[in-house]
Amino acid sequence: MKILGYNYTIVRDGTMDDLGGAMGRCHYARLRIQIAEDCAPQQETSTLLHEILEALNAHLDLRLEHTAIMGLESGLYQVLSDAGVDLSPLTRQIGELRVVPRELAGGVAIAIESGRKLA
Ligand SMILES: [Zn+2]
Repeated sequence: MKILGYNYTIVRDGTMDDLGGAMGRCHYARLRIQIAEDCAPQQETSTLLHEILEALNAHLDLRLEHTAIMGLESGLYQVLSDAGVDLSPLTRQIGELRVVPRELAGGVAIAIESGRKLA
């Protein structure tokens, strides 16, 4: 997903416990958005909207308080959903993170995100 020209990778990785109770996290320096594996499917779209807002906040140095980001997430999600806007292409960009066993990867541990090999 491109955000302000930056190519973000979006993955389901870790649990909400791993994320300190959050459903997602934006690692803007690594251009990566992480969505908790145990996040309810119904929550994924608004969580992704939230993390996009976090990325915009960081890259544009908007200095929005977290409460502002949460309010924008809820407001945008409600207006767009109630207007019948199809947001499913957003969540289709979420890749699965899976680790390829060493014996299948020529002796090295590699991880694949959406079919793409990670360094
Ligand atoms: Zn946040």
